[in-house]
Amino acid sequence: MFDALIDFAWSVANTFPQSYVMGLATSGVAAGFFYLVFWKLLAEHLRHWRIQLDRRADSAQFKRELWHALFTGAVGAILSCVVTYLGTMGLTKIYFDLSTHHILVALATVPFVLLLDDFWFYWVHRMLHHPSIFKYVHAEHHRSLDVNPFTSMSFHWLEPLLLTLWIVPAATFVPIYGPALLVVQLSSPALWHARQYQGASGL
Ligand SMILES: [Zn+2]
Repeated sequence: MFDALIDFAWSVANTFPQSYVMGLATSGVAAGFFYLVFWKLLAEHLRHWRIQLDRRADSAQFKRELWHALFTGAVGAILSCVVTYLGTMGLTKIYFDLSTHHILVALATVPFVLLLDDFWFYWVHRMLHHPSIFKYVHAEHHRSLDVNPFTSMSFHWLEPLLLTLWIVPAATFVPIYGPALLVVQLSSPALWHARQYQGASGL
Protein backbone atom coordinates (compact mmCIF):
# COMPACT_ATOMS: atom_id res chain seq x y z
CA MET A 1 0.00 0.00 0.00
CA PHE A 2 2.78 2.42 1.02
CA ASP A 3 4.77 1.46 -2.09
CA ALA A 4 1.73 2.15 -4.28
CA LEU A 5 1.34 5.61 -2.71
CA ILE A 6 5.02 6.41 -3.28
CA ASP A 7 4.69 5.21 -6.87
CA PHE A 8 1.58 7.36 -7.35
CA ALA A 9 3.21 10.49 -5.87
CA TRP A 10 6.40 9.94 -7.91
CA SER A 11 4.44 9.54 -11.14
CA VAL A 12 2.35 12.68 -10.52
CA ALA A 13 5.48 14.69 -9.58
CA ASN A 14 7.21 13.52 -12.78
CA THR A 15 4.40 14.36 -15.18
CA PHE A 16 3.28 17.55 -13.41
CA PRO A 17 5.80 20.10 -14.80
CA GLN A 18 5.04 19.33 -18.46
CA SER A 19 1.29 19.25 -17.87
CA TYR A 20 1.39 22.50 -15.87
CA VAL A 21 3.48 24.41 -18.41
CA MET A 22 1.38 23.13 -21.33
CA GLY A 23 -1.90 24.06 -19.60
CA LEU A 24 -0.69 27.53 -18.63
CA ALA A 25 0.78 28.14 -22.08
CA THR A 26 -2.43 27.20 -23.97
CA SER A 27 -4.67 29.17 -21.61
CA GLY A 28 -2.23 32.08 -21.51
CA VAL A 29 -1.84 32.29 -25.30
CA ALA A 30 -5.63 32.10 -25.82
CA ALA A 31 -6.39 34.69 -23.12
CA GLY A 32 -3.57 36.94 -24.35
CA PHE A 33 -4.77 36.71 -27.96
CA PHE A 34 -8.37 37.61 -27.08
CA TYR A 35 -7.21 40.39 -24.78
CA LEU A 36 -5.06 41.89 -27.53
CA VAL A 37 -7.83 41.69 -30.13
CA PHE A 38 -10.90 42.69 -28.09
CA TRP A 39 -9.44 44.87 -25.35
CA LYS A 40 -6.77 46.64 -27.38
CA LEU A 41 -7.21 46.50 -31.17
CA LEU A 42 -11.04 46.60 -31.22
CA ALA A 43 -11.50 48.52 -27.96
CA GLU A 44 -12.80 51.66 -29.65
CA HIS A 45 -15.23 49.77 -31.94
CA LEU A 46 -16.65 47.81 -29.00
CA ARG A 47 -17.04 50.78 -26.68
CA HIS A 48 -20.84 50.80 -27.00
CA TRP A 49 -21.09 47.04 -26.55
CA ARG A 50 -19.45 47.01 -23.14
CA ILE A 51 -21.41 45.09 -20.50
CA GLN A 52 -19.70 46.94 -17.67
CA LEU A 53 -20.19 50.64 -18.32
CA ASP A 54 -18.56 52.26 -15.28
CA ARG A 55 -16.03 49.99 -13.67
CA ARG A 56 -12.75 49.22 -15.39
CA ALA A 57 -10.39 46.40 -14.53
CA ASP A 58 -7.39 47.96 -12.80
CA SER A 59 -3.90 46.55 -12.33
CA ALA A 60 -4.91 45.09 -8.93
CA GLN A 61 -7.64 43.03 -10.64
CA PHE A 62 -5.29 41.80 -13.37
CA LYS A 63 -2.67 40.88 -10.79
CA ARG A 64 -5.24 38.98 -8.72
CA GLU A 65 -6.52 37.14 -11.81
CA LEU A 66 -3.03 36.15 -12.94
CA TRP A 67 -2.15 34.99 -9.42
CA HIS A 68 -5.27 32.81 -9.30
CA ALA A 69 -4.49 31.47 -12.77
CA LEU A 70 -1.28 29.92 -11.40
CA PHE A 71 -3.31 27.86 -8.91
CA THR A 72 -6.09 27.07 -11.39
CA GLY A 73 -3.46 25.74 -13.80
CA ALA A 74 -1.76 23.73 -11.05
CA VAL A 75 -4.98 22.04 -9.93
CA GLY A 76 -5.89 21.19 -13.54
CA ALA A 77 -2.40 19.78 -14.14
CA ILE A 78 -2.52 17.64 -10.97
CA LEU A 79 -5.88 16.18 -12.00
CA SER A 80 -4.53 15.49 -15.47
CA CYS A 81 -1.49 13.72 -13.96
CA VAL A 82 -3.75 11.64 -11.68
CA VAL A 83 -5.81 10.49 -14.69
CA THR A 84 -2.59 9.72 -16.59
CA TYR A 85 -1.37 7.63 -13.66
CA LEU A 86 -4.68 5.76 -13.40
CA GLY A 87 -4.35 5.09 -17.14
CA THR A 88 -0.86 3.61 -16.81
CA MET A 89 -2.25 1.34 -14.07
CA GLY A 90 -4.94 0.12 -16.46
CA LEU A 91 -7.70 1.67 -14.36
CA THR A 92 -9.19 3.87 -17.10
CA LYS A 93 -10.74 3.13 -20.48
CA ILE A 94 -8.68 5.81 -22.22
CA TYR A 95 -7.07 4.20 -25.27
CA PHE A 96 -4.62 5.24 -28.00
CA ASP A 97 -4.77 2.26 -30.38
CA LEU A 98 -7.47 3.04 -32.96
CA SER A 99 -7.81 -0.64 -33.90
CA THR A 100 -9.26 -1.56 -30.51
CA HIS A 101 -12.56 0.30 -31.03
CA HIS A 102 -14.78 1.27 -33.95
CA ILE A 103 -13.80 4.56 -35.57
CA LEU A 104 -17.23 6.00 -34.68
CA VAL A 105 -16.50 5.37 -30.99
CA ALA A 106 -13.27 7.35 -31.34
CA LEU A 107 -15.04 10.18 -33.20
CA ALA A 108 -17.82 10.24 -30.60
CA THR A 109 -15.22 11.12 -27.96
CA VAL A 110 -15.27 14.80 -28.95
CA PRO A 111 -19.05 15.47 -28.67
CA PHE A 112 -19.27 13.18 -25.64
CA VAL A 113 -16.56 15.04 -23.74
CA LEU A 114 -17.89 18.48 -24.75
CA LEU A 115 -21.48 17.63 -23.74
CA LEU A 116 -20.48 16.02 -20.45
CA ASP A 117 -18.22 18.96 -19.61
CA ASP A 118 -21.03 21.41 -20.37
CA PHE A 119 -23.61 19.40 -18.39
CA TRP A 120 -21.24 19.12 -15.42
CA PHE A 121 -20.30 22.81 -15.59
CA TYR A 122 -23.96 23.86 -15.53
CA TRP A 123 -24.82 21.90 -12.36
CA VAL A 124 -21.58 22.63 -10.50
CA HIS A 125 -21.89 26.33 -11.35
CA ARG A 126 -25.50 26.30 -10.10
CA MET A 127 -24.43 24.57 -6.90
CA LEU A 128 -21.62 27.10 -6.37
CA HIS A 129 -24.17 29.92 -6.57
CA HIS A 130 -26.22 28.42 -3.74
CA PRO A 131 -26.44 31.16 -1.08
CA SER A 132 -25.11 28.88 1.67
CA ILE A 133 -21.80 28.12 -0.12
CA PHE A 134 -21.33 30.97 -2.62
CA LYS A 135 -19.10 33.09 -0.35
CA TYR A 136 -16.66 30.23 0.35
CA VAL A 137 -15.57 29.40 -3.20
CA HIS A 138 -17.29 31.04 -6.17
CA ALA A 139 -17.38 34.60 -4.77
CA GLU A 140 -13.70 34.86 -5.62
CA HIS A 141 -14.42 34.45 -9.34
CA HIS A 142 -17.18 37.07 -9.24
CA ARG A 143 -14.93 39.65 -7.59
CA SER A 144 -13.97 40.56 -11.16
CA LEU A 145 -16.78 42.90 -12.16
CA ASP A 146 -15.20 44.09 -15.40
CA VAL A 147 -14.62 40.65 -16.87
CA ASN A 148 -11.83 40.11 -19.38
CA PRO A 149 -10.08 37.06 -20.91
CA PHE A 150 -7.90 36.62 -17.81
CA THR A 151 -10.99 36.32 -15.60
CA SER A 152 -11.55 32.92 -17.24
CA MET A 153 -8.71 31.47 -15.09
CA SER A 154 -9.42 33.41 -11.92
CA PHE A 155 -10.94 31.02 -9.39
CA HIS A 156 -10.63 29.86 -5.83
CA TRP A 157 -8.30 26.82 -6.11
CA LEU A 158 -11.13 24.40 -5.26
CA GLU A 159 -13.25 25.48 -8.21
CA PRO A 160 -11.16 24.06 -11.09
CA LEU A 161 -11.10 20.76 -9.21
CA LEU A 162 -14.89 20.70 -8.87
CA LEU A 163 -15.40 21.78 -12.49
CA THR A 164 -13.15 19.12 -14.02
CA LEU A 165 -13.70 16.19 -11.67
CA TRP A 166 -16.06 14.59 -14.22
CA ILE A 167 -13.04 13.27 -16.07
CA VAL A 168 -12.35 10.62 -13.38
CA PRO A 169 -15.68 8.70 -13.58
CA ALA A 170 -15.87 9.33 -17.36
CA ALA A 171 -12.40 7.87 -17.97
CA THR A 172 -13.14 4.96 -15.65
CA PHE A 173 -16.35 3.81 -17.31
CA VAL A 174 -16.39 5.11 -20.91
CA PRO A 175 -13.92 4.32 -23.74
CA ILE A 176 -12.26 7.66 -24.53
CA TYR A 177 -9.84 8.08 -27.42
CA GLY A 178 -6.78 9.73 -25.81
CA PRO A 179 -5.66 12.06 -28.64
CA ALA A 180 -9.23 13.39 -29.04
CA LEU A 181 -9.39 14.09 -25.31
CA LEU A 182 -6.05 15.87 -25.50
CA VAL A 183 -7.21 18.08 -28.38
CA VAL A 184 -10.40 19.01 -26.50
CA GLN A 185 -8.46 19.53 -23.28
CA LEU A 186 -5.87 21.81 -24.87
CA SER A 187 -8.03 23.85 -27.21
CA SER A 188 -11.62 23.98 -26.10
CA PRO A 189 -11.42 25.20 -22.47
CA ALA A 190 -8.92 27.93 -23.23
CA LEU A 191 -10.74 29.17 -26.31
CA TRP A 192 -14.19 28.78 -24.80
CA HIS A 193 -13.31 30.61 -21.61
CA ALA A 194 -11.41 33.34 -23.38
CA ARG A 195 -14.35 33.86 -25.74
CA GLN A 196 -16.83 34.22 -22.88
CA TYR A 197 -14.92 36.96 -21.13
CA GLN A 198 -14.58 39.81 -23.57
CA GLY A 199 -16.60 42.17 -21.41
CA ALA A 200 -18.79 43.03 -24.39
CA SER A 201 -22.15 41.66 -25.45
CA GLY A 202 -23.21 40.64 -28.94
CA LEU A 203 -19.95 38.81 -29.71
ZN1 LIG B 1 -21.00 32.27 -11.37
